[in-house]
Amino acid sequence: MDKPRALPDGRRDLAVAAATLAGHLPPEFAPLATLAYNYWWSWAPGGEEVFSSLDPHRWLRCGMNPVRLLQELDPSRLRVLAMQPGVLPRIEALARALRDELGRPERPITLPGRPAVIFCAEFGVHRSLPFYAGGLGVLAGDFLKELSGQGYPAAGIGLFYSQGSFHHRVDSSGWQHEFWLDTDSDRLPAAIVTGADGEPLTVNVPIRGRDVTAQIWRVDVGRVPLYLLDTNLPGNAPGDRWITSRLYVGNREVRLAQYALLGIGGVRAMRAMGIEPALIHLNEGHASLALLELLREQIAAGLDFTAAKERVRAGTVFTTHTPVAAGNETLSTDDLRSVLPDLPASLGIEWAGVVAMGRIRPGDPGEQFGLTPFALRMTGAANAVSRLHGEVARQMWHDLWPGRAPEQVPIGHVTNGVHLATWMAPQMGALFARYLPGWPASAADPATWQHVDDIPDGELWAVRCELRAGLGGYVRDRSVVERLGRGEPLPYAESAARAWSDDSLTAGFARRIATYKRLYLVTRNLDRGLRLMNGELPVQLVIAGRAHPQDDDAKRTVQQIFALNYLPNLGGRVVFLEEHDMAMAARLVRGSDIWLNLPRPLNEASGTSGMKSALNGGLQLSVLDGWWAEAYDGANGWAIASNPALPAAEQDAQDATALFDLLESEVLPLFYDRDEDGIPHGWVQKMKTSLKSIGPRFTATRMLGEYVERARAQLAAPGG
Ligand SMILES: *Cc1c(COP(=O)(O)O)cnc(C)c1O
Repeated sequence: MDKPRALPDGRRDLAVAAATLAGHLPPEFAPLATLAYNYWWSWAPGGEEVFSSLDPHRWLRCGMNPVRLLQELDPSRLRVLAMQPGVLPRIEALARALRDELGRPERPITLPGRPAVIFCAEFGVHRSLPFYAGGLGVLAGDFLKELSGQGYPAAGIGLFYSQGSFHHRVDSSGWQHEFWLDTDSDRLPAAIVTGADGEPLTVNVPIRGRDVTAQIWRVDVGRVPLYLLDTNLPGNAPGDRWITSRLYVGNREVRLAQYALLGIGGVRAMRAMGIEPALIHLNEGHASLALLELLREQIAAGLDFTAAKERVRAGTVFTTHTPVAAGNETLSTDDLRSVLPDLPASLGIEWAGVVAMGRIRPGDPGEQFGLTPFALRMTGAANAVSRLHGEVARQMWHDLWPGRAPEQVPIGHVTNGVHLATWMAPQMGALFARYLPGWPASAADPATWQHVDDIPDGELWAVRCELRAGLGGYVRDRSVVERLGRGEPLPYAESAARAWSDDSLTAGFARRIATYKRLYLVTRNLDRGLRLMNGELPVQLVIAGRAHPQDDDAKRTVQQIFALNYLPNLGGRVVFLEEHDMAMAARLVRGSDIWLNLPRPLNEASGTSGMKSALNGGLQLSVLDGWWAEAYDGANGWAIASNPALPAAEQDAQDATALFDLLESEVLPLFYDRDEDGIPHGWVQKMKTSLKSIGPRFTATRMLGEYVERARAQLAAPGG
């Protein structure tokens, strides 16, 4: 008998890549190579420090990518470092901790060894892996990290974009310009999965009547592998190589080809690597074409269409993230025909039957194939991402279940949560470790968070001030350079460096700039805003984000902010930062005292940046929408109860007034109300209230717990 061959799952390929990198390092530094090839370091305590301290300047130059850092470091520098006390022991301790992490026993979801496989068009794992655009991707990355931490078998499936997500510059008129950079795959902590023959494992997907070949990259996120399909191969036609070029590429047909590759190719890749999923989780509609392949497999195995559909439903779950009808992409029959001409034959049905699966009303010829209705119909369980979004989604998709009342529509919700170790500042974590019993292992227990009350006000305030000052330094540096880069006059470029204060109330707003997020509300009531910025009790505002390349409305929002640039004294108090990524997001959510979120109600499915801010003692000043509608309890922050019955312009005017009223009458007085010890005890009290009520409820730990509980119930049901 032959020995059982190891699965061609890329594990060995990553080990080979790490060994190759280790070969370039002095032997005592070899463990760094293994660490560099697993993003676990990015949330492990002290992990970032181990790499950044090797060469802090080059660390930033390398975009915080440890593989690139180790490739570029001068070995003579390492030899000097080796003689410094503590350097090698720290590396060894971290390497040991990684081995322990990988060696922990698995916690099965159902059957041992059967993973949850998460399909998503974007994964935000770290800024050095530029395969995410915003909240959806960062959530998917947080999900993988949490699965790893809780020890569940899991894998992610996505795309390896040769140009990733876009970068942007804003010109001095405030107009956003996009550009793309090539992903340098040789420098990523990724390896091409090879088969038993040592050649890259590939899968073929019939797209536009041609077999498109994709290879598979593996990236390790702790214990969880992330597999990324890549069509940028010499054997593919140029148009097919472009399929995995850019996230959500503008061209409709290419985008549809991306969805086909992600879904159909993703399932084939999973099979080729010998992965037998317990459950397939389709995260947002982009991934929903996986269901076509799962159906085809069952039909090829001999099931009739109805039985095939029931089998597929039993093992799949779908999460919807888009509460606005227009945001849910639909495809015309022509689009489908041109990109996936073989579809009806592979399923043994007619085109009419294919399109009907993606319609809300199957018989309505005027309706296109919607990715979301298709996924809702063909998966066994569906979730929205907050309680309120659940209500919105049930209302929105209610016609898919004619005859049912909206409350009986089978869409539940699992409110999003964020990965604690990624988003909580190390200083905050260290403080918690001193006062919260069992921290961080005990973080999932709400009772643990009640001990926030045991933290002396002065210590919590000191950490808040340290984090605000950290952001202040960053804002001062970045704003000067970015403004000079745009060709702004020197006095203006340097105004924030002069006026930005480490002690002033600092407000943050950072997320995708979409019109519904209403950044423009902060530029309403201009006189009032100016008075606040320059008053006795000043507020300063840092804004970051990027508009979708095709969203000119959103780009004009940024221009409105820039139109204020030359108002006297404003340039020092309002700063717009370019190139919002996960690293910048971390600085902003950690350093801001208050976090603004101003969506037009019912447009924000959940929102997660506010949760990240809350974990760092930031207080929310937000519209009651998405997660905040269920988190706000009257004492743990501030809420704007927008009135959706009003015409949009009036609603905007009212909400902007409410924002400034709250700032003026409550937020600023509380922040600046200092006792003799210089501490704003009322503010710190509110921080504690916020931490205790939000901390345990809006982490990825709680989120994953709910997903797993639901998955087990689904899989235990008849047919599961
Ligand atoms: C968390 C995060 C988001 C999501 O922000 P929302 O407030 O949910 O819109 C977007 N971009 C980045 C880089 C993030 O880290």
